[in-house]
Amino acid sequence: MDSQRVLLTVMDSARPPTEAVVELERLSPGRRLGRGVVRWLAVSAVGAVVLVLPLLHACGALTLLVAGPVAGVLAYRRQVLLGPGQLTCPRCEAAVPVAAGTGGWPVRLHCGGCGSTFLGRPAPGG
Ligand SMILES: [Zn+2]
Repeated sequence: MDSQRVLLTVMDSARPPTEAVVELERLSPGRRLGRGVVRWLAVSAVGAVVLVLPLLHACGALTLLVAGPVAGVLAYRRQVLLGPGQLTCPRCEAAVPVAAGTGGWPVRLHCGGCGSTFLGRPAPGG
């Protein structure tokens, strides 16, 4: 686990970003590729299972077979996994838990205290 300084910005707000430190795991290219392939095969396997279901077989299977590669690419693009830990909401200063395995960047978190959504991005200079 590494530590990374992040800037937290409330979505749809002109507030200046606040700074925090998160624990994260940097994924190697091989691990990213493995996660992408597993996600691709999992979604496509659901599409293959849907083929035998009446009413869902045509649209459902086609949608899931197309969504499989898309889900794989999205999983491959994640370079870091955050957490576990917590961040302070930049709007209401409540503690917001960060679940282990939360993907970044930018990481999107939701504050249960004020209902705002905020983004975390790596701070310039580390
Ligand atoms: Zn809040």
